[in-house]
Formats: sequence, C-alpha cells, structure tokens
Amino acid sequence: MEKIIDGKKLSLKLKEHIKNRSEDLYKLTGKRPKLTVIMVGNNQASKVYVSNKEKSCNEVGIHSNVLHYDNIDTDKLIEIIKELNEDKDVNGILVQLPLSSNIDEKKVIEAIDPIKDVDGFHPYNTGKLWINGDPYFYPCTPYGIYKLLIENNVEISGKNAVIIGRSNIVGKPIASILLKNDATVTICHSKTSDLSSYTLKADILIAAVGKPYFVKKDMVKEGAVVIDVGINRIIEDGKNKIVGDVDYNDVFDKVSKITPVPGGVGPMTIAVLLENTLKAFMIQNNIK
Ligand code: NAD
Repeated sequence: MEKIIDGKKLSLKLKEHIKNRSEDLYKLTGKRPKLTVIMVGNNQASKVYVSNKEKSCNEVGIHSNVLHYDNIDTDKLIEIIKELNEDKDVNGILVQLPLSSNIDEKKVIEAIDPIKDVDGFHPYNTGKLWINGDPYFYPCTPYGIYKLLIENNVEISGKNAVIIGRSNIVGKPIASILLKNDATVTICHSKTSDLSSYTLKADILIAAVGKPYFVKKDMVKEGAVVIDVGINRIIEDGKNKIVGDVDYNDVFDKVSKITPVPGGVGPMTIAVLLENTLKAFMIQNNIK
C-alpha cells in the first residue's frame, strides 16, 4: 500500500483528461473555455500562483488572461466583474486573494456571477455546498483533497475527520464535503483548547493552519491519514524552502498515508480549477 499520497501524479492524470475533453469540445463548438484572473497589488506569492494558473490553462487548451491592477477601488473592481459577467467569451472569473486592504473582498466575491465563480467562493455556491452538496463549483483546494482521498482508497464514511483551521477557502468547505460523505467532522481553530485531544482521535487529519511544522507526532493517531494543506515559505539552513503545516519526517512512521509538501494538495488545487473552468464552459454552452 502506497503511503505517500501523490498529488502531482493525480493532477497530471486529471490535466490529461481535461486536455482531451477540451479538444473534443473545441471540435464540437469551435470555441475554447476561457478563464479571466483578476489580480490586485504585488503580492509575490500571488504572482507565482497566477502565473502557474496561466501556464496550466495553456497546457490543457484553456484560454486565460490576467487583469492586473496596482491600484483600484471596490466600486471599480465590481464594475469590471459585472462586465466580465456579461462577456460571453469569459467562462470563469477568479479573483486572486488576498486583495489589498482598501478593497471589500466580500462585496467583490459577491459580484461574480455564481455560474462563472470557478473558485466556488460565492455565497450561492458555498450555500449550495452546505445545504445539498450540489454547487455549480466546489472550491478548488477542498475538492482536490476529496479527490486525493478517493483516488487513494481512503474510506471516509463513519471515520473521524478532524480539520485544523476554519477558513472559508479550506477549513469550512472541506468540513462540508467530508460531512456529506458521512464522516464525523470536527473543526478546530486558534481558540480550540486542548487541540491534541481532538487530533488524536482523527482517522483523517487535515492541517490548514499556515504554521510550519505545526503538527507533530504526539498529536497524531497511529495509522491516521494526514493531509497537509499548508504552504509556508521559510528559510532553513540558509535556503528558501516551502514546507507544510505538518512535520512530515516526525509523523511519517506513525501515519498510514500522508501528503507531501510540495507535491500533495498544491497541484490538485490547480487541476480542480481547470476542471471547474471546463465545467463552466459546458454549463454556459448547454453541453451535458
Ligand atoms: P487562514 O490563515 O485563513 O486560516 C488558518 C486557520 O488556522 C484559522 O482558522 C485559525 O483559526 C487556525 N489556527 C491558527 N493557529 C492555530 C492554532 N494554534 N491552533 C489551531 N488552529 C489554529 O489560512 P488558510 O487560507 O485556510 O490556509 C491555511 C494554509 O493552507 C496556509 O499555509 C495556506 O498557504 C495554505 N493553502 C494552501 C492551498 C493549496 O493549494 N495547497 C490553498 C489554500 C491555502
């Protein structure tokens, strides 16, 4: 049984499928799906994420463009989103977060037409996710995690799933997806007292904390499946490194399966974004 859950491998398989599907759709319609990414400011990590998204779109036959603003206010940004909502050539709209502090993020996300909300952050899609599990689009990182669990034969039904982190983009939506799949779900966060008493009961432990090496061996149940969502940029031994929220080497012998960082959840996030953009194209062109 493979212990390392390989997100890179699965993401390549998904991308191949999306590429083939996108070619079929091109033959059928003469059109290609298009994703528009909006970026505000000069956050270095965001720049890397946005350029990776563009590159990945290219690889699978999805058109993409980036609208980059150094300086813009909430009203102007909403105006631009409304124009994109009306633009029939644009299938997916993604606002790269975080936005600069002068912008009302909530209002901006709510301005996106839910049918083009390929990040799955619009309240229509998040509400549908919680109520009956059928949003137009599942949020990319949580759905990528779900696919990793399924493809690696991790049983979810009846299991204790503990999530560290309650953000709208990771913690809450993955809780909803696991709950829908009949796990018993606990969400822990910065105000949780005695965190280990929860994590030690987890058959599936998901760390979305944003703190390097936060999860140690003494917090993990023997045989647990550990999913590390963290992307933390640190300097270690004089080198720039990206590490997860889990101390991988420390917990490795105790767990039954684990995602590495990099090469675990990260590549799946982009693969799901591409899948969502393809789905947006199909919905908007009435293709089943
Ligand atoms: P966030 O900062 O919005 O949320 C962090 C959560 O951790 C909060 O809910 C907070 O309550 C909780 N937390 C903080 N300290 C804690 C503590 N001591 N004990 C228990 N809980 C604690 O972060 P986020 O946006 O959810 O992202 C989490 C991590 O995942 C980050 O490292 C981020 O870079 C990464 N991330 C990765 C991907 C990917 O594609 N792999 C996508 C999104 C986020």
